[in-house]
Amino acid sequence: MRPSVVVVGAGFGGLRAARALRRAPVDVLLVDRHNYHLFQPLLYQVATAGLEPEEIAKPVRAVLRGQRNFDFRLAGVSGVDFASRRLATDDAPIGYDYLVLATGAAANFFGLKGVEQFGLSLKDIPDAVRIRNHVLSCFEEAMFVSNAERRRALLTFVVVGGGPTGVEMAGALSELIRLVLVKDYRRLDLKDVRILLLEAGDRLLAGFPARLSEAAANTLWKKHVEVRHGALVTGFDGSAATLKSGEVVPARTLIWAAGVQAAPLAKALGVPTAHLGRVKVEPTLQLAGHPEVFVIGDAAYLEAQGPSLPMMAPVAIQMGETVARSIGRLVAGGSAVPFVYKDPGTLATIGRNAAVARIRGISFTGFPAWVVWLVVHLIQLIGFRNRLFVLTNWAWDYFFYDRAVRLITAPPSPRVSREEST
Ligand SMILES: Cc1cc2nc3c(=O)[nH]c(=O)nc-3n(C[C@H](O)[C@H](O)[C@H](O)COP(=O)(O)OP(=O)(O)OC[C@H]3O[C@@H](n4cnc5c(N)ncnc54)[C@H](O)[C@@H]3O)c2cc1C
Repeated sequence: MRPSVVVVGAGFGGLRAARALRRAPVDVLLVDRHNYHLFQPLLYQVATAGLEPEEIAKPVRAVLRGQRNFDFRLAGVSGVDFASRRLATDDAPIGYDYLVLATGAAANFFGLKGVEQFGLSLKDIPDAVRIRNHVLSCFEEAMFVSNAERRRALLTFVVVGGGPTGVEMAGALSELIRLVLVKDYRRLDLKDVRILLLEAGDRLLAGFPARLSEAAANTLWKKHVEVRHGALVTGFDGSAATLKSGEVVPARTLIWAAGVQAAPLAKALGVPTAHLGRVKVEPTLQLAGHPEVFVIGDAAYLEAQGPSLPMMAPVAIQMGETVARSIGRLVAGGSAVPFVYKDPGTLATIGRNAAVARIRGISFTGFPAWVVWLVVHLIQLIGFRNRLFVLTNWAWDYFFYDRAVRLITAPPSPRVSREEST
């Protein structure tokens, strides 16, 4: 009988590992609590009404349809019994010979209960749709609120975290409001709209060269985003955000892009974890004492090359390829190979014609960086249909200053409901 390889997580790392095992003499079972692979880097465009959710996701079965040694199981994994080599799931247990854990990350609220309860995070499709519904509901409500203070709070959008997600979110939100919603809500005064990007550190995009951080901040200011450094958020109650300085910012919307941590399964494994709850792995991505178990992507903590590797898609993808190679070798009686990361560079967009990029040690900004960002993201999207639809949407929005998906598909959350607004 062929050895079974169970891959948990159909994200960037898991999907790549499953694919890369297509010619190996093994049976591959990919397990995920969702039946789709999600392209998270474009989630913020779903949140800001630019793209439909289905344009950035694809059913796993469709992605790997042609792979003969592949099967998929829709299930949430809650634990691993390493001794009996079985996964506990919300369905029946699943046995394995080799296991690849690629469960990614979850939002990290650093114990701020109010932020967790009333804030909006961006990690999955429902999160993105929730933000879209919420922002549009705020505008609908603001139209009928006579109290100026309440109206301003409805039109104040606080984005927390100056990493790529926060920067992209703030830029896209500003463009949604200033280029598109301004035409729909003509009676509203744009002076009442405020977008704040709050960063606790002393610069945006900490992983990028300082020059690019400055360029990003300048571009955001030009897009009417108030960029604040050293602004540590300590609470949010649905009506106002509180900063460590004591400042209170009345706002109905707080979008939390300030941190992630390993997805909960990492903690449930009962193995040593490191910063942000990521599972410590050997240089070969194997779990110490369990050579048949690999942990990859955001869930893995590898220090082999100096500081821990960033929680980014290229890391997860390359790790997926490495473990597939290692499993092929182990099955053939060989040994696992150490992981070596090849940094392809980093990119972040700030809206129309604006991005920052560092590729092969060269930093550049503005239109060239934006074009590179567009091409790279289009190429990385899975499926020709998705690429075509995304490209069409982008072209439409670019030429007509539009965002096609301005639908409110769920009732406004209580914090925007009409009864409390006068
Ligand atoms: C909004 C946003 C924007 C980003 N932008 C960029 C970017 O521009 N560039 C970049 O390089 N990176 C970006 N990232 C980070 C990048 O998406 C991650 O680093 C990457 O997805 C990690 O891949 P992974 O395979 O480890 O996990 P993921 O891709 O997150 O996949 C994890 C999978 O595991 C599944 N799963 C989790 N727990 C369980 C369980 N218990 N049972 C079953 N299934 C489970 C999930 O459903 C998911 O499908 C962004 C992330 C976010 C959230």
